[in-house]
Formats: sequence, structure tokens, C-alpha cells
Amino acid sequence: MHEKCGVVGISLEERDAAHPIYYALYALQHRGQESAGMVTHDGFQQHQHVEMGLVGDAFRPEDIDALNGSNGIGHVRYPTAGGVNASCAQPFSVSFKSGSLGLSHNGNLVNADEVREELAELGHAFTSSGDTEVIAHDLARNLLEEDLVRAVKSTMQRIHGSYSLTIMHDETVLGVRDPQGNRPLCLGKLEDGYVLASESAAIDTLDGEIVRDVKPGELIVLKPDGSGYDTYQLVEREQTAHCFFEHVYFARPDSVIDDELVYEVRRELGRRLWADSGIETDVVMPVPDSGRAFASGYAEAAGEDGAKTEFAEGLMKNRYVGRTFIMPTQDERERAVRLKLNPIKSTIEGKTVTVIDDSVVRGTTSTQLVELLRDAGAEEVHVRVGSPPIISPCYMGIDMASREELIASDRSVEDIEAEIGADSVSYLSIDAIVDALGKSESDLCLGCVTGKYPYDIDGEERDRDVTRPVIGSERASADD
Ligand code: AMP
Repeated sequence: MHEKCGVVGISLEERDAAHPIYYALYALQHRGQESAGMVTHDGFQQHQHVEMGLVGDAFRPEDIDALNGSNGIGHVRYPTAGGVNASCAQPFSVSFKSGSLGLSHNGNLVNADEVREELAELGHAFTSSGDTEVIAHDLARNLLEEDLVRAVKSTMQRIHGSYSLTIMHDETVLGVRDPQGNRPLCLGKLEDGYVLASESAAIDTLDGEIVRDVKPGELIVLKPDGSGYDTYQLVEREQTAHCFFEHVYFARPDSVIDDELVYEVRRELGRRLWADSGIETDVVMPVPDSGRAFASGYAEAAGEDGAKTEFAEGLMKNRYVGRTFIMPTQDERERAVRLKLNPIKSTIEGKTVTVIDDSVVRGTTSTQLVELLRDAGAEEVHVRVGSPPIISPCYMGIDMASREELIASDRSVEDIEAEIGADSVSYLSIDAIVDALGKSESDLCLGCVTGKYPYDIDGEERDRDVTRPVIGSERASADD
């Protein structure tokens, strides 16, 4: 189950949290378009609304009005590899002896089946195939015997993999990031409360201030009256496994993740692309919108080197066409590229062209684009890619296609050139990515470009030794 999603959690002094959560979900829409949902608590009871579709379609004004309470969590969900699945829409909620729980999850556990089986033997009945329900049941069980913080800690010791969570226990909102910090999660301050969100762009949308990223292995407990938060470093690991692809493709360019503004990282990667494999052509153009920051960095570096390459918008995007990955068949995916992108002939005809995208996954987009640009009269088409070749699937929450579908899994760059019909193709090196992110390679998850993973995955190699979590107990408070 691939859960590439967006999560949010908000605690306010008095105001209902539903509207701010709705806006935050809008800001996180790029992280998931299959379903949207919210759980709030008014001090007496939980309210929930979860529906398939985009945020704007999933909530009607009366739905939001009915979501009472100044504390709540929200979720947007990305389509799964297996297609639409209403039973996996989130937040997941459950009521049990000692209260109610709501859970929003971004990421993917690697031992969900194991934990599910153990819990099933203890009598837990599951209604979905998702791993979020596994986390909810484990936590509910621990809460029967332990206080909130200990219960979360016990669950964190039990589950392995990638998880950024916002949790609602009665009216208390929590944020948890897995010990390796695979998916992002950050904390922000609002005029009358606090917010946890997958990306800082959601905090900006609410006119809030970014406080900081939630640390890997950290639990943040928002005070239900919006006055502050407690933090607990529950699990410590020597190494992190931040997903580099968040910086390359997935996150919004205007978000700050682990202290890096995504837009600047992408521009820097574009500059390196020029330094590594730049070629002077009449024009350089981005694949909108994913290649834009890369192309701007590339063109800037080319200009500094005296190249006569002009930056141009040669492709127009129909913004109403969803991400091509949602299309289930290859034929539909190809048609979607044509629907989505149309060339501007005057910037292409009779010219040599470099086209830049962040990544090549199946190769559908670049194959279609090369043909499109040639049809529009390009004399040469060179493809530059802002990430290394994607050779392996993602098990940590990004729906990246299976190994057989990945164009680079069994082809050399020359083969790819021939396959997509470009005059040349060049990718960025892993070193360039690591360097531009300013992190050490061993603190990143590079599984999809190295084929080695920071987690135990059946049939795949690991990129590091298993380090046992060191259980911490530090507690700190921040009150207004
Ligand atoms: P493909 O056409 O299969 O080679 O996919 C590459 C295109 O899809 C590029 O334009 C990327 O920006 C975009 N892309 C990369 N990864 C993903 C993903 N996980 N989901 C949706 N789109 C993606």
C-alpha cells in the first residue's frame, strides 16, 4: 500500500479548526488527489467527514460547518498503485474504551502485515487493507494500559517504516515523525494556536510562522487550548533517511523541508545539470511545472558561462488535466501527456532545443515530448533530467511504478536516448543530489536510484546496518 499523502493537525484557542484545516488541505492538494478528510473534536465528541475527490469537491460548506471544535486533523490521499480504494480514505477514526482516535498518515510501513497479524490474533478486527488502521489499533490497545506519550512510544517501537502522522486522541492533536524522518512534517505557529503540516506551504497559507521541522523520532503534543505544545524525543537514530525525491519532485517549490527551500534546491540542481552535461542549444525550456526551477537554474548557469541558450516557455500546460500517473493504462497515460502539454511553435520551429524535467519514471512524458517537439519543428531535442535514473520502485510512500515499468531499470542512458528518440539524454549524478541537499548520503533515502534501501524490504538490499532505536525520554515544553 503506497501512501503518498498530506497531513495536517491544528489546535486553536477558540475558533473552530475546520476552516483552517480545509485551507491547509488545499495547500497540500498536490500530495494527494484521491480523497480528502477531516476529524475534529469539540470537547465532547468527535466529528468526521471523509470523501473521495479533491479538497474542493470533498467538502461542502455544510460539511465544514458540522465539523465543530477547535482541534482537528486532516488528510489528502494519493491514489494507490492498485487504484481507487474508498476504505483507505483518511483520517482513519476509531472509538474504543478509553476514548476516540483519529489518524492521518503519510508514508508506508514495512512491517504492517506482521503487526496486523499479531493484533488480529488478539481479537482486533480490521476494516481496511491500509497500514494506518494497524497504527490506530496498536495505539488504541496501548492506550488501554499506558498514558498517551508512553502509548505512542510503544507503537513507535513496534512499527517500522516511513510515517509522518497527525493524530487526534479525544481533543488532543499530536504530530509524530518516524525515527528516520523519511517524510516531512513541520510545526507552525498561528495567531491563536499551532499547526502541524506535511509542508510549510500550508503554514504560509494560514498566515502562520514556521517554527521548525518535527525531528525524526519526535512526538509533538499540541495543547488543546491552542496555548502551546510539549515535545518528546521518543526514539533516536544515528542516521536519518530523508526522501530526496521530496526535494526533486514531490514537495511544493515554495516549501521549506529540513531547512532547505525546495525551489532553491531545484535551481541548484539545474545549475549542476548545466555544469555536468550542459549543451548549447538555441533554447532551453522546462516541462511545466515540474521542470521549471531546474530549467531556470540551468539557463542561469549557461548564461554565466557565455552560452547563447535562451530560456523559453515552449510548452503550455493544461492545468485541468490531473497528474499522468493517475491514468491506469499506458495508452491513457500517453494521451494524457498530449492533453496536458501543447507546444508553442514560435519558440521551437527551426531551433535546437533542450527540454528539462525533474525526473523520468516510465519515460512516457519524455517520449511523447520529444515527438511533440519534433512535430513542432525542433531541429534537435536534448533531454536533461534533474535526478539520477530511477531504477527501483519506492516502498516508502511514493507511487513510482514497478521495476519492469521503469525505463531506466534495465537500460543504459544510450538505450534510453534511442527509446525516447532524443538527440541526447543526461541525468544528474547521485553525488550532485547529495551535494546540493547539503546532507550526507547516509542520511538520505536513495532507494529508487540506488536500488538499496534504508529499511528491511523483502527481496531488496539494505543500504545500512539495522540500528536499534535508542529509547529517549527527554521532555520539553513551549508555552506562550
Ligand atoms: P514518466 O512520464 O513516467 O517518465 O514520468 C515522469 C513525469 O512524471 C515527470 O514529468 C515527473 O515530473 C512526473 N513524476 C515523477 N514522479 C512522479 C510520481 N511519483 N507521481 C506522479 N508524477 C510523477
